[in-house]
Amino acid sequence: MWQPEPYRIKMVEPIRLPERVEREKYLEQAGYNLFLVPAEAVFVDLLTDSGTGAMSDRQWSALMRGDESYAQARSWFRFYEAVKGFTGMEHVLPCHQGRAGENVLFSEISKPGLTIPSNNHFDTTRANIEFYGAEALDLVVPEGRDPHKILPFKGNLDLGRLEETLKKLGRQKVPLVMCTVTNNTGGGQPVSLANIRGTSEICHRHGVPFFLDACRFAENAWFIKQREPEYKNKSVREIVREMFSFADGATMSAKKDGLGNIGGFIALRDEALAKRLQSALILREGFLTYGGLAGRDLEALAQGFEEVQEESYLQARVGQIADFGEALKAHGVSILEPTGGHAVYLDAKSVFPKLPAERFPAQALTVALYREGGVRGVEIGSLMFGKKDENGAFVPAAMELVRLAVPRRVYTASHLAYVADVAGEVIKKAGGEKGYELTYEPPFLRHFTSRLRPLS
Ligand SMILES: *Cc1c(COP(=O)(O)O)cnc(C)c1O
Repeated sequence: MWQPEPYRIKMVEPIRLPERVEREKYLEQAGYNLFLVPAEAVFVDLLTDSGTGAMSDRQWSALMRGDESYAQARSWFRFYEAVKGFTGMEHVLPCHQGRAGENVLFSEISKPGLTIPSNNHFDTTRANIEFYGAEALDLVVPEGRDPHKILPFKGNLDLGRLEETLKKLGRQKVPLVMCTVTNNTGGGQPVSLANIRGTSEICHRHGVPFFLDACRFAENAWFIKQREPEYKNKSVREIVREMFSFADGATMSAKKDGLGNIGGFIALRDEALAKRLQSALILREGFLTYGGLAGRDLEALAQGFEEVQEESYLQARVGQIADFGEALKAHGVSILEPTGGHAVYLDAKSVFPKLPAERFPAQALTVALYREGGVRGVEIGSLMFGKKDENGAFVPAAMELVRLAVPRRVYTASHLAYVADVAGEVIKKAGGEKGYELTYEPPFLRHFTSRLRPLS
């Protein structure tokens, strides 16, 4: 039986759709870069699902219980017990967000000459690994790179290639193997428990530790319950425990499945490694029992880690993404399939088939969604990943996508139906699109701050 969201609304935040002329003005002022448009001028904001979720009444009351003592605060113990509870790991290092934990971990273990495989490294994970000198190697299964193949676990790690890599390099050259659940870079696709178990077995046979990038552990567990027949009668909590039981450690941004607006952690079984990371944590984040977070944040997260594993919540969450994908398809928008756990990805090439990658078709679609309906998404195409080769020739990204990420518990079905309508209108008017050119670009991570101009 179909079920609506298992919560009702107690507090509202007004949002406003600016007039079309205002939207045009905001775009011009922002150099057609949606990162530079004020959030107040956005009607439905699908830029990211990170830290943008709505907290529950229980989380808000937990904030009031925050113990702001510098060391060994009551709130730390609640956070610690919650994380230990679902990871089964004894050693927990709190940090202010996911990349901060990555920085602490990789400052110790990433070195030139080493290789760290994963299904797909998230971009901050890759950046931290590469910053400290190791190679970040993506080993997702081949079908994970096919945007239209309908398969249950397109986030899986390619076990054959992992075995080969570990045989060739050996444990001296591979300090750890990671697996991102769900696989954000690969479209939020889940990883099966069989694959997690298999990865863990291979790693341990070679004496290499296995870590989860656990940002969306609960969404992944929900997919396992739905799609992996062996687990259909297990509870999400049991599946979560089993996922972590195969790992030696985990990093997590609690801005995702922590249902918080800030926070993260590193969890470990190995006491020696935990000790090695403690100095880096104190140097970069703060003392071992707060890691850059206020006591109240630790409280809200401890509660969030519990709520995120409620099955009625996960059914509504993942169901909302699937329904959103169907609504977009019904309006003739081509999307990556199947839909993952946190976002829908629009294929801009299908909307603007005549626009070459040099004219940034995915950015053109991002701009058009805002112009048409005040909707903000993020370009994942040649503006983000396009390069110039040694001769200055343009090298496009593999795909031209616009990601519409859905914040947790924030928008209703009608907001997302509205976004699908807006996308349908954009498609009707797509014929006249001429694309964009850069007028300013910073030396790296250019999508955040670059400026563009519409071509005629
Ligand atoms: C968001 C994210 C991170 C980084 O976390 P931040 O809190 O943004 O620093 C790492 N890995 C994955 C898979 C993520 O989605």
